[in-house]
Amino acid sequence: MTRDPQTITLIGAGLNGPLLALGLVNRGFEVEIYERRPDMRQVRQSAGRSINLALSTRGIHALTQAGLWNDMRRIIIPMKGRMMHSLTSELAFQPYGKNEGEVINSISRSALNIALMDAAEAAGVTIFFQQRCTGIDLRSGALHLRDEQTGEESIHETEVVIGCDGSASAIRNEMLKLNRFNFSQQYLDYGYKELTIPAAPDGKHPMETNALHIWPRGSYMLIALPNTDGTFACILFLPFEGPDSFAHLTTPASLQDFFQSSFPDAVPLMPNLTGNFFDNPTGAMVTIKCAPWHFEGRTLLLGDAAHAIVPFFGQGINCGFEDCTCLLGLLDRHGADWSRVFRDFEEARKVNTDAIADLAVENFVEMRDLVADPRFLFRKKVELALEAKYPRLFVPKYAMVTFHRIPYAVALERGRKQDQMLSELCDPIERIEDLNWGRAEQLIRSQLTPLELAA
Ligand SMILES: Cc1cc2nc3c(=O)[nH]c(=O)nc-3n(C[C@H](O)[C@H](O)[C@H](O)COP(=O)(O)OP(=O)(O)OC[C@H]3O[C@@H](n4cnc5c(N)ncnc54)[C@H](O)[C@@H]3O)c2cc1C
Repeated sequence: MTRDPQTITLIGAGLNGPLLALGLVNRGFEVEIYERRPDMRQVRQSAGRSINLALSTRGIHALTQAGLWNDMRRIIIPMKGRMMHSLTSELAFQPYGKNEGEVINSISRSALNIALMDAAEAAGVTIFFQQRCTGIDLRSGALHLRDEQTGEESIHETEVVIGCDGSASAIRNEMLKLNRFNFSQQYLDYGYKELTIPAAPDGKHPMETNALHIWPRGSYMLIALPNTDGTFACILFLPFEGPDSFAHLTTPASLQDFFQSSFPDAVPLMPNLTGNFFDNPTGAMVTIKCAPWHFEGRTLLLGDAAHAIVPFFGQGINCGFEDCTCLLGLLDRHGADWSRVFRDFEEARKVNTDAIADLAVENFVEMRDLVADPRFLFRKKVELALEAKYPRLFVPKYAMVTFHRIPYAVALERGRKQDQMLSELCDPIERIEDLNWGRAEQLIRSQLTPLELAA
């Protein structure tokens, strides 16, 4: 039975679900969300779920369109660059962009999630908590739910379902049963652990506030992102197995030894290290690619459900929010012609989400290893100099991804060309004064076309 206005059912009230719901309700649809977890505004979150996210231009654009960004400024901390901590506790600051405006923004995942749910509910979205989707009949739209409190099972008729249920999507699991559904998942050999640096006794941040702190150690790293309450949310990225790995950190003594030798200046800032480490789960990181993302104009995957990526470019949610921008734009163009909207959505996004998936894996090497390498830092300097001279032609890869809304596939392709140019220009020299500007001009003008950089 078709209702009027049409009801759109979303699975998952994580980050993408409520933002998309808000956009849909503002376009005249009824929207309901089924979320398997309890309402985080009522129940304390379980340990190890407090990761901070780096919000950048694509995410900010979507939040601005939803009318939410201005209010969110209260709960973000701009990070102007990476603060590298060496083994001998020396600090080196490397700006992210060419000017003060090119920053990324630290935000607590739960604060962002709460702000999005509040806004969606205020606009008329209904969120049903502790309702786990256990399956869906893709042809009839019968959605199978289980009440996580009572264990009661129910079936709910739906018209259009959008799976915003993250990297382990139940909706995608149903699509896997379809003929010729493509699916790949690639786990990293690395895990991650959330840790905390408390505020200083005066309530302030015990390290530089406006930076993403990073302890790059070749095959592993620690990072710390500032919170508005003076604390830092840290993540340790470490191989699961091998010499320096989670497998070896089994006792408080081995943990303290490892931190003392690898991150000596972090140890005095982490009085709860042992408790944090052994209480919090070790997370895995996966890249998921699949296709098609939609079925018969009734069901669609969006966000991590369609394309989970590893976190090293800080783009997971920026990319998911860009999905929302794209889908809502297509709805504005085509109206509720869902088959067409879903088809065009996948066509526009898939090539780009595949690209950011690859870029994110590549950036892991940069973060854990190269950022401490003087040659890498020199290339970064040259990149910024080239960008200053050719602002629409040579935009560093990091900037294309983070500070612009240039399609990710374009950023990947141009980034690879630019990497080759940088190798040719930088390898023979030690000082920026010796840069062969004539050759740079030749390479850039012959290989790069001007970019459209509108915000
Ligand atoms: C360590 C780490 C660091 C990261 N850092 C960044 C960063 O700096 N910047 C960035 O942009 N991104 C980052 N990300 C990625 C970002 O967290 C994800 O891309 C984003 O959360 C995806 O949003 P989503 O709404 O698609 O999925 P999720 O946020 O995972 O939400 C899915 C929701 O669906 C619910 N759900 C799942 N299954 C069911 C079911 N069967 N029935 C009902 N509900 C269900 C879940 O409970 C959850 O609430 C990071 C990720 C990790 C792991």
